[in-house]
Amino acid sequence: MNDNCIFCKIANGIIPSATIYEDADFRAILDIAPAHKGHTIILPKQHAANLFEIDEETAGKLLPVAKKVAGAVKKVTGCDGINILQNNGEAAGQTVFHLHVHVVPRFEGDGILPVWPQGSYADGEAAELAAKIKAEL
Ligand code: AMP
Ligand code: ZN
Repeated sequence: MNDNCIFCKIANGIIPSATIYEDADFRAILDIAPAHKGHTIILPKQHAANLFEIDEETAGKLLPVAKKVAGAVKKVTGCDGINILQNNGEAAGQTVFHLHVHVVPRFEGDGILPVWPQGSYADGEAAELAAKIKAEL
């Protein structure tokens, strides 16, 4: 646990929160400034600043928790859809540097999240880029 990290304190129960789920590895809480009511964030109990730092085992347990939480949030809020979001780095919109996964209820036409402009690739560019990324895996 990182003593200077608010999400470490929340995840480990030192700071109280509106908890909707807890197990040995995670705590899921209502976001304090929700995109819609029911917006939940899932926090690992162990500190990792972002996806690049989290250990594989914990990362592997995260999506099943998101699935479980998303189902319950959908049922209770009656939303039409759910976004699972996870920001890494300031440029990507991360503001709290303890990894967390957002579970955001969405309603038809709510327009609350930006849709990115659709780019394109020149001939052969996608294959070249794919090969470069593949070589790093
Ligand atoms: P991000 O921008 O992905 O780093 O998301 C940080 C999220 O944490 C935001 O949606 C905040 O509203 C939320 N947040 C910050 N502090 C708290 C807190 N004390 N309790 C619950 N949610 C929080
Ligand atoms: Zn932390």
